[in-house]
Amino acid sequence: MDALDVVNQNLILWDLQDREERREKASKNSFWATDAYVKKEDFHDGKCARAIYYTWKNEKVTNPPDHRSLRVLQLGKLIESQEIGYYRRSGILIASNTKWRCPEDKVSGEIDALIYNGRKIIGVELKSSYGWYFQQQVFGTKNKDGFPKKDHVIQVMMYIHYTDIREFNLIYFDRGDMDSTKFSIILDIVGHPVVTGVPIKSGSITMPFTVEDVKKHFINLYSNVVENKLPARDYYIEYPAEEVEKRHSSGDISETAYQDWSKKKRILGDWRCSYCSYLDACKRDGE
Ligand code: SF4
Repeated sequence: MDALDVVNQNLILWDLQDREERREKASKNSFWATDAYVKKEDFHDGKCARAIYYTWKNEKVTNPPDHRSLRVLQLGKLIESQEIGYYRRSGILIASNTKWRCPEDKVSGEIDALIYNGRKIIGVELKSSYGWYFQQQVFGTKNKDGFPKKDHVIQVMMYIHYTDIREFNLIYFDRGDMDSTKFSIILDIVGHPVVTGVPIKSGSITMPFTVEDVKKHFINLYSNVVENKLPARDYYIEYPAEEVEKRHSSGDISETAYQDWSKKKRILGDWRCSYCSYLDACKRDGE
């Protein structure tokens, strides 16, 4: 066995050990801001309620991530700590990994960095990803504005609502070539998130939901936990035919993927399910 095989095996083993340790120690008293989910008008994004329910119920992970996913996760953390180091060296860092918690609403979070921009303190949330879809969506194209990932906007709006930091920078790095871009997030008077940034050419974009919508979701999810009621799936493990047709027509499914699906060579579903650590448990428990 060579070095790569040894580490690949150990990464999976260590992850399982860490998860088991966390599972035993976990005191389930609040949701993370990253657990947020919103469904409003035609907007629908965030973490699946059923996956969080399994975590709160100490369900054993049925589909642990592979060594590749674990390395990707670690790389994201390294990029984040490197960037925070640059803020420190630049003399603008006020604090890093700042935790907050609201016991009444059972929500908590951790802000990557607080910096002083010469006028005021603003929050910074650092994200990284890679690939064609990420580039198109976040960096934009010649004809289309870039836009942050919507679940990241939801996460940041929670930070603004629950702390006294009124403005955040959401900064993205492409892990392929380390290109970067940034967005600014504030809440308007009603509490909708307003996003501006270099890749948005048309000024700013306001999204149709508020923190109250996220709070309602957490209240429902908490009731599910207390009443031992498994939430319905928020995502498709496998799209029904009409959903594939709809997504293909709107351009969300590529022609190649659509052709493969038509020839029954491929199953199409939401990416969250393909990467879900509870996929087999979710299949076992049905819709
Ligand atoms: S497999 Fe999909 S629907 Fe099921 S818990 Fe995971 S993310 Fe939710």
